[in-house]
Amino acid sequence: MDNLKEWSENIKNSLSIEQVKDLLFALGGDPAIKNDIITSRTICHGGQSHKLYYYDNTKLFKCYTDCSESFDIYELIIKIKKLENNEITLYQAINFIISFFSLTVTAENFVYDNSELSDWQILNKYEQSISQKKEERIIELKYYDDKILKHLPHPKIPMWINEGISQEVMDAAGIKFDPVCWGIVIPHYAPNGKLIGIRERTLIKEEEVNGKYKPAILNYQMYNHPLGFNLYNLNNSKDNIRKYKKVIIFEGEKSCLKYASLFGINNDISVAVCGSSLTAYQVELLKELDVEEIIIAFDKQFKEIGDNEFKTWTKKLRDLNKKYSPLVQVSFMFDKWDMLDYKDSPIDKDKETFEELFKRRVML
Ligand SMILES: [Zn+2]
Repeated sequence: MDNLKEWSENIKNSLSIEQVKDLLFALGGDPAIKNDIITSRTICHGGQSHKLYYYDNTKLFKCYTDCSESFDIYELIIKIKKLENNEITLYQAINFIISFFSLTVTAENFVYDNSELSDWQILNKYEQSISQKKEERIIELKYYDDKILKHLPHPKIPMWINEGISQEVMDAAGIKFDPVCWGIVIPHYAPNGKLIGIRERTLIKEEEVNGKYKPAILNYQMYNHPLGFNLYNLNNSKDNIRKYKKVIIFEGEKSCLKYASLFGINNDISVAVCGSSLTAYQVELLKELDVEEIIIAFDKQFKEIGDNEFKTWTKKLRDLNKKYSPLVQVSFMFDKWDMLDYKDSPIDKDKETFEELFKRRVML
């Protein structure tokens, strides 16, 4: 289940090094932190030497003795449970992590052999607790030093200029170029303007099979961040969103840049989720701006009305509507008129097409 994977990634990336240390401590790892690295007893295979390392920049463990491999926090839990002759699934491991950090309401929710709770129930619970405890900053967001960006070149990027993204907008968004990995560098800022992550659009065709967009790795550091706990471009568009009480939510960063290019930076009311999920946390961020209407402008994920993809896609949008429409008005820029091509964002064609789809946006 893709969504579960995305959520588990978000959770994993949001854990602070101290939280991971707490977990290792609780599991008997006798951990110590130094320079964003934790060293711990090799509880992964029941060993005694302190050769289990955790790297906060990649959120991965590496066991330098028996296991001699890298794995994430869920895999660690699976390994430890296995030593207790308890084979657990990834889903149960995620549940364990959520419970351990009190990301769910209570720890009693966690029962090893309980497979009755659906993934969605677990995740909904997780989301509920996020919005309830937001003030306590249960999800500690990590910020990066932005000085790395100052040293990157910012050449003209013909590929994006040809798609209608203006140089002015690219400069304002701090778009740079990574000459090492050969990719377009897209800084992500939290609403407070701090650098929360950097993503990169590869320009190497062969790399695209692993995803066109990935966390940037610059000077040996990975600038990943939990995508579900931020909205791209909100740092730029928040004042306009507050003023117009409307927000347009795109999937990709590029759509925000194109929107600002077509309608002007001063009228920009766009954000991007960098995927096709909208989390309760993100809706909360928008509610703080007194938003009255959320306009979903996701990519067209079907070829023909009525085909299988159409069914899956419309169900997903209906679910989204069901979840958030009690909180705020939700509308959809949904292309029933075949104005867009498959997988187009509503902003990918010209201004007129976007305006038409905007005018015809639907409420469920
Ligand atoms: Zn090991």
